[in-house]
Amino acid sequence: MTTLDDLVASGTLGSMVPIAGLTTYKLGGPARYYLEAENEGQLVSIGEALRDEPVLVLGRGSNLIISDAGFPGLVIHLGAGFAQIEFGEGGTVTAGAATPMPTLARACAGAVRSGLEFCVGIPGSVGGGVRMNAGCHGSEIKDRLGSVRVVNLRLGRLDERKPDELDLEYRHSNLQPDEIVTFATFATEPGDEEAIAATMRDIIRWRRDHQPGGTLNAGSVFKNPPGDSAGRIIDSLDLKGTRIGGAHVSTKHANFFVADEGVKAQEVYDLVWEIRRRVGAELGVWLQPEVEFAGPFRASPHKEDR
Ligand SMILES: Cc1cc2nc3c(=O)[nH]c(=O)nc-3n(C[C@H](O)[C@H](O)[C@H](O)COP(=O)(O)OP(=O)(O)OC[C@H]3O[C@@H](n4cnc5c(N)ncnc54)[C@H](O)[C@@H]3O)c2cc1C
Repeated sequence: MTTLDDLVASGTLGSMVPIAGLTTYKLGGPARYYLEAENEGQLVSIGEALRDEPVLVLGRGSNLIISDAGFPGLVIHLGAGFAQIEFGEGGTVTAGAATPMPTLARACAGAVRSGLEFCVGIPGSVGGGVRMNAGCHGSEIKDRLGSVRVVNLRLGRLDERKPDELDLEYRHSNLQPDEIVTFATFATEPGDEEAIAATMRDIIRWRRDHQPGGTLNAGSVFKNPPGDSAGRIIDSLDLKGTRIGGAHVSTKHANFFVADEGVKAQEVYDLVWEIRRRVGAELGVWLQPEVEFAGPFRASPHKEDR
């Protein structure tokens, strides 16, 4: 039976490949095994060798913190073969899962199709956007998703799923770590060129004014509790600027945690759990992380399991 090491030996997989540069935090160690996939066939056939090895699907790494030790299994990243955008019948648009969401928004604007303008503000991939049910400014992926193609990496099976099979809720889907979205089809409608451009400009301006652009971060660290905002809650305790090593709570937006150059992923991890602990201890609100951690982290004295 083929193993991942066999696939390294045959040149199909990379080994100990640096992946920090594929994330917005630019942090963390290498992938034990690494596949840059260009077609669905490669994904369907990897299952035989994968067996019980952990797997991480890496999109644009804008919601991920990779551990300093790296990822101990197979990291799969979608290549250019998954970056096309095609407009179809009835106002649909199908995008490869590696397509950056802002690129999708701009392509729709270019075709004067409305509905995906909000994607201009989210720096993730279409696949990551579906997995996270990403959204902003009152819209989310769920509102526009028509169907997705998904490969179950362990079973080596490709199927098409409708949104009601994905359990899409606020920053949640039922997609499992070993399931990879390859293409997604969205609904758009005819729009007004100037109105679409104005909406996108407003979103970009709002982000420039409210978020710490140009810094190393992964967007919102915690999900918003129902009816409230995690940023408002953290700010209410004057925690902006709180620092652990080279990681600190942004002074511009309290739900963005910024990393200095050379910071350890463990320091970001510890800061996340420390802020959660302080908010929980002071207010009894136990925030849930929206960012995801991949690979092993040291048990944190700041972490309370609630
Ligand atoms: C400055 C900034 C602003 C942000 N603003 C927003 C915002 O307004 N709204 C919002 O919702 N998010 C926001 N984010 C967070 C992030 O962009 C989203 O969560 C995005 O959907 C993540 O996509 P990604 O490709 O980067 O996924 P990654 O970070 O690479 O991965 C995130 C999760 O998705 C999975 N995944 C990635 N690709 C696939 C795939 N093809 N198939 C299956 N699973 C996959 C990963 O395994 C992981 O579980 C922001 C981030 C930054 C840095």
